[in-house]
Amino acid sequence: MSPEPNIIFESNWMPQAAEPLVISGPCSAESEEQVLQTARELKKIGQVKIFRAGIWKPRTRPNDFEGVGEKGLKWLQQVKKETGLLLTVEVANPSHVQAALKHDIDILWIGARTVVNPFSVQELAEALKGINIPVMIKNPLTPDLKLWMGALERINKTGITKLSAIHRGFHYFQKSPYRNAPMWEIAIELKRLLPELPVITDISHICGNRSLLQETAQKALNLGTNGLMVESHINPDEARTDAAQQITPESLHLLLKNLKPRSLSGGSVFDYKLEQLRTEIDKLDGELLNLLARRMEVVDEIGEYKKEHNMTILQLKRWQHIVDDRLAIGSFFGLDKKFLIQLLELVHEASIQRQTDIYSQSKENEITTSNADV
Ligand code: PEP
Ligand code: MN
Repeated sequence: MSPEPNIIFESNWMPQAAEPLVISGPCSAESEEQVLQTARELKKIGQVKIFRAGIWKPRTRPNDFEGVGEKGLKWLQQVKKETGLLLTVEVANPSHVQAALKHDIDILWIGARTVVNPFSVQELAEALKGINIPVMIKNPLTPDLKLWMGALERINKTGITKLSAIHRGFHYFQKSPYRNAPMWEIAIELKRLLPELPVITDISHICGNRSLLQETAQKALNLGTNGLMVESHINPDEARTDAAQQITPESLHLLLKNLKPRSLSGGSVFDYKLEQLRTEIDKLDGELLNLLARRMEVVDEIGEYKKEHNMTILQLKRWQHIVDDRLAIGSFFGLDKKFLIQLLELVHEASIQRQTDIYSQSKENEITTSNADV
């Protein structure tokens, strides 16, 4: 059970919009022209109120492009001067904070790689003492709500009251169509604990590709998100970071136009509990299928081994052991015996079938080989 979070914040500090607020801009500031052109296009979309750009980039490998650094902040000042958009950048250490403040950045955000480390968050908190600038806190890479809340609490303790959370998905060890599995239930739980805290959904880092953006934005909207963060670039394919997930301002406009209001898309009043349970079921089913697929791979390897060693496919003693063992484990977990037997038999039948296929395939190969020998 998560303890109640201890946070005192202002709930209405974000720019208000009839539709969800949109934060957009490139993953990375690359050149003055790229930043300004993107911002000018974004300005034409009324829903975009805040311009984002990565100035210092947290990269996996040291020789990758690590951002343009402080000179990019001057380009952002130019964006503000020309378009009036508010500015936000990621800060990961106190010197980033100082530089951002010196260049009129309106809102800071703390990235997922920083939020995993309470030492870093604490250093940022110290650097922010006495400055009431708004701060948005991304979820940590790992699916750990306490760590996310802990970062919000640390920043709040130094006097920052204009806070928001950004849900950008989580690292997930299983195969998933997303770059970062959304695990909506975690964002929902945060919203349940802190109903007034604005939560923004960063669909770009959740999806990692363009094709999932629309449905993910709709899902976020249906769940009652307060806003979207979407990476945009004047020429996405040429972007120096996160090229696969960035879209042109024009595509962003289209994406926003295609969003259905929450009431029309089937989820008028959001039922947190039900949605939380459903996303949990979706995740568990995904894990079940993944495990079954991995089990079948091992079954195939055993099939190859049996074939090589001239063993029969069905090894009765082994099968009896599996049944006894799995029934004992399953009943320990409170699963019904009849259900377990049916499930085991089904899996067993499919496994035998796969091994039989392996045998007959090898036979065919043998025939072709022997034919070839003749
Ligand atoms: C980003 O927004 O460009 C970024 C690096 O995000 P995250 O911290 O979510 O990976
Ligand atoms: Mn990015």
